[in-house]
Amino acid sequence: MNDFKAIFEAIDAAETIVITSHKSPDGDSVGSSMGLYHFLKKINKKVTVVHPDRAPAYISWVEDYDEVVFFDEHEGHAVAALTNCDLLIGLDYNTPSRVGDEMQAVLLEAKAKKIMIDHHLHPALDFFDFLYSDTSAGSTSELIVKFINENGFADLLDKQIGTPLYLGIMTDTGSFRFPSMKAETHEMIAQLMRAGVVHFDVHEKVFDTNTVERLKLRGFALSEKLEILPSFPVAIISLSEEELERFNYQKGDTEGLVNIALSIEGIQVAAFFAEKEGKVKISFRSKGAYEVNQLSADNFAGGGHKYAAGGICFDALEVAVDRFKSVLSNYFPN
Ligand code: 5GP
Ligand code: MN
Repeated sequence: MNDFKAIFEAIDAAETIVITSHKSPDGDSVGSSMGLYHFLKKINKKVTVVHPDRAPAYISWVEDYDEVVFFDEHEGHAVAALTNCDLLIGLDYNTPSRVGDEMQAVLLEAKAKKIMIDHHLHPALDFFDFLYSDTSAGSTSELIVKFINENGFADLLDKQIGTPLYLGIMTDTGSFRFPSMKAETHEMIAQLMRAGVVHFDVHEKVFDTNTVERLKLRGFALSEKLEILPSFPVAIISLSEEELERFNYQKGDTEGLVNIALSIEGIQVAAFFAEKEGKVKISFRSKGAYEVNQLSADNFAGGGHKYAAGGICFDALEVAVDRFKSVLSNYFPN
């Protein structure tokens, strides 16, 4: 485990490589996938990125994102790529179920050797032939920088490889400010900037691309839908499908709302519930002694990190919120 040299040897020996990542892509899944994709292309490997679904606009501007095969849009092409490659690389997820049921079934059947590079807690140890797991890393993208450096390819890092990696590190560290950010990570950022990454361009594309409806939805969520619990330092925002539609919801429009709820003075845990297609998707964030991954795993078929986790509920929105409130005392002192 955690041997980037052995991982490179497996990559070097492979003819056709497929890079996969988790469902509902974020900056780090897109960034690590596209950064590694461009690196592998540069060393002349035959590589395809297969993701379960498409990323929202604020992160899908990275170069060659239109080359990505989406399982939910082009299943035949995706299945052929996953089945016929001789090396599968999983990035930014810890267990095959994170790619969604349909794609997971294909992954489990695939004959290819499997590599996992990730920073989530509790990696599935039985699924991958090579595992690089560092739960202290702020992002998978920084592990890709490390992989490139440790194999002596630092000189190959250029703007094309570096820009998605910068995107992944930036988004997963909350713009370089979460506790997971280390001096070493800042050194990697310096390396990426020297390689030609235009940092302000990335920040602008991610943060300065609001639509009026997106801002109004966020305003509505904060002024009308924010609930502060009386007996726990917990803030909740929940949005129904009807409310999301009222503001012409587009993927990514509610990104970061949960962090705003967590920023409230005295709040230690924030939960964001969004009803979509009859399911409720939940995001949890927390601080200090309050950890949310176990609560998410036990009650919402979820997981993630200590301070940033997510899950799902197949009941009504109100039921999901009530379940969260009713289990708080099992996890947190009040
Ligand atoms: P987000 O709230 O940004 O969607 O997710 C926060 C963290 O929780 C991410 O690192 C993600 O990997 C994890 N996470 C989100 N949704 C799920 C889920 O449904 N299942 C599991 N196991 N982890 C999730
Ligand atoms: Mn990540």
